[in-house]
Amino acid sequence: MLNPLSSKLPDIGGTIFAEMSALAQECQAINLGQGFPDYSPPDALIQAVVEAMAQGHNQYAPMAGLLQLRQAIASKVETQHGHAYSAESEITVTAGATEALMSSLLALVHPTDEVVLIDPAYDLYAPSISLAGGKAVRVPMRPPEKDDPSFRVDWNRVEAAITKNTRMLVLNFPHNPTGLILKTEDLDALEVLIRKHPVLLLSDEAYEHIVFDGQIHLSPVSRPLLAEHTVLVSSFGKTFHATGWKTGYCCAPHHVMREIRKVHQFTVFSVSTPMQAGISRYLRESDAVSGLPGFYQKKRDRLIAGLKNTPLRPLHAEGTFFLLVDASALDFKLEKELAIRLTHEIGVASIPVSAFYPDPGSSSANHHLLRLCFAKKDATLDEALERLEGLKAWLPG
Ligand code: PMP
Ligand code: GLN
Repeated sequence: MLNPLSSKLPDIGGTIFAEMSALAQECQAINLGQGFPDYSPPDALIQAVVEAMAQGHNQYAPMAGLLQLRQAIASKVETQHGHAYSAESEITVTAGATEALMSSLLALVHPTDEVVLIDPAYDLYAPSISLAGGKAVRVPMRPPEKDDPSFRVDWNRVEAAITKNTRMLVLNFPHNPTGLILKTEDLDALEVLIRKHPVLLLSDEAYEHIVFDGQIHLSPVSRPLLAEHTVLVSSFGKTFHATGWKTGYCCAPHHVMREIRKVHQFTVFSVSTPMQAGISRYLRESDAVSGLPGFYQKKRDRLIAGLKNTPLRPLHAEGTFFLLVDASALDFKLEKELAIRLTHEIGVASIPVSAFYPDPGSSSANHHLLRLCFAKKDATLDEALERLEGLKAWLPG
C-alpha cells in the first residue's frame, strides 16, 4: 500500500476559473467568468499555422523557441518599450504566460525568500511561490470608495512590505481583475523603490495590448533601471484570441534568463513548433495588434451601457478584457455565493473578486464585486445583459 501522501499545496483545490466554467456548463449559463473569447483567432494566423504544419514544422523547436519568433518578439518589445533584448540569450518562448511565470518563480525564488504580491492577485502566483519554497507577502490595494470608485496601489505600502528577505515583487498591469494600468507616476514610484531595494520584478503583462481610452501600456522595461530588474512575461493567447494555443514568452537580462531556461528546459523543453512558426510569420506580415484596443473598448462600452438596465454598477476599467461590477444593491454576504446563485438562477457565470485574495471567505476579501469577461461576441454580451436585467427582481424591498 502507498504511504500517505503529504500535499505540497494542502490549501489548494481547483481554480475558481475551472470551477465557474464547469458550473456554467452544468447550468447552460453564458460564461462571462473564465477569461477567453468566444470567437476565433484571425484567419491569416490560422492559415499561417496550418501552412507551417503542412510545410513540415512538426518536430521539436529549439529549447528557447524558434529564433525567428524570438526575433519578432525582440523587435515588437523594442518598438513598444524602447528596450532591446537579445533574441539569442534574453527571450524564451513558453507554454503560455503560465509556464513563463512558473518557470521564473521556480528558477529565481529560493527557500525562505519573500515575494511581494499586490492583492487582488491572479491565482497562480502564491501557489507557485510556495512550490519554490518561498513565502508570499500580500499587500492589498485600496479597494474602491464612494468618491473614488477604483482600486488604487499604494506604493508606500508595497515598499513597507519589503524586508531583507525579499527576492521579488510581482506586478501585473494591465491588471487582472481590476483593469488598472501603470501610469508615469507609478513607474516613477517603482524606480524610487528599486533604487532603495534592488529586488527582482516579475511583470505579468498578459493583457499588454488591451488598454483603453487612448492610454498606452507602460511596461517597467520602458525604464532602463527597471528593465535590469525585470522579467517581462506575456501571452499570445489574449493578443490573438487563442487562449487554447498556450503560447507566450518571457524576456529578462541574460544572467536571469539563463536561470529561467534551466527550469523551462525540464518543464516543457520547448513549445509547439507550428504555433511558433505561424505566430512569427503573422507578427512579421500583419499589423497584428493595433486594432485590439478599439475592438475591446467597443465591447467594454457595450457591456457598460447595457448594465444601466441592471442593478450592477460598473467600475472604471482601463485595460484587460474584464469589467468589475459592484453588486452591493443586491442582498448577499459573500461574492462567491452571489456568483453561484447568478449562474444557477440568471444563467450568467462570473468570477467573484474575493477569489483573488488569500482568504476568499474573509470580509476584507469581499467588496461586493464580480468580474465579467467581455471578450465575447456582441450577441453573447446582449443575451447576457438581457438575462442580467432579471436581477431587478432581486432588489430588496
Ligand atoms: N497572467 C494573467 C494575469 C492571466 O490572466 C492569465 C490567464 N489569462 C495568465 C497569466 C496565463 O496566461 P496563459 O493562458 O498564456 O498561460
Ligand atoms: N487567466 C484567465 C482568467 O483570469 C483564466 C486562465 C485559467 O483558467 N487558468 O480568467
